Amino acid sequence: MKFCRYCNKKISWFGGIDHSVCEKTASGHISHIHKYTKDQILKGTFDISSVPESFKKAEKYLSSSEVSDALAYGYTVAMEDLADDGMIDNEEGDLVVNFINNLVKNSNESQKEVLDWLNVYGANNTFLQHRQIYEFNQGKLPDTEPPTGIIMNKGEKFIYSWASVSCHALNIKTKFRGRSTGGSYRLSKKISLRHTEHRGKPVSYSEWKRIGKGELAITNKHLYFLGYGESRDIKERLSKVISLEPVSDGFIVNINLKTRPAYRFEMNSGEAWMASNFLMGAQEF
Ligand SMILES: [Zn+2]
Repeated sequence: MKFCRYCNKKISWFGGIDHSVCEKTASGHISHIHKYTKDQILKGTFDISSVPESFKKAEKYLSSSEVSDALAYGYTVAMEDLADDGMIDNEEGDLVVNFINNLVKNSNESQKEVLDWLNVYGANNTFLQHRQIYEFNQGKLPDTEPPTGIIMNKGEKFIYSWASVSCHALNIKTKFRGRSTGGSYRLSKKISLRHTEHRGKPVSYSEWKRIGKGELAITNKHLYFLGYGESRDIKERLSKVISLEPVSDGFIVNINLKTRPAYRFEMNSGEAWMASNFLMGAQEF
């Protein structure tokens, strides 16, 4: 038999006792933790060892998983706020790190364990990606190794690569009917894309010829696609790239050549967003 934390009456699947007021109180407690967590992270004052009475009261009525979930939600909303401009700078990064360290210090969990339950809404990835874009825009290359099979010129600098990317080439017999609804971006370091800018729908899929799956790699000179199995490789100079168009399932690269007008790469929105940002600033290195 389960008893309600608020009214101490039994909870039955068959109804009988009305707990709607209790449920309303519970959701009030949860949103209190959401808001408190978010606000304190952003102010840099979050301290789980000295929370106000209102927080303690909320904790008392919620299960431990409801509390950790509410903290994770507040963390996620704070992260979205910090990542709002497309980057998380050092000062913003410190706010996040302080919050995590405070939770680790005041619990008997490891940092990995804390990061695990904080990540239920995927905020850790948002953090890493937006930190990486910030550092990239500050002139720092990501610390990764080029994939095997990539042959770079002398002085060419590797930036980043993504595995298991689907690639399509625009069929040259059909004209490019129109732009996606998302907007088009010229390669320039001055612009950094926000996550929300990936909204356009690509032109009709029948116009795209599938090349296959492979590894997409970006250097400061070229864009490479290293096809798996039978799929062919692609190598294009970045100086031939006219513009990028973020689309709902990846991004389109428009090339200044009649024989190869455009490629489309299918990636999840976070990866596509990173790849677009890297491409836009790549030639600055
Ligand atoms: Zn109740």
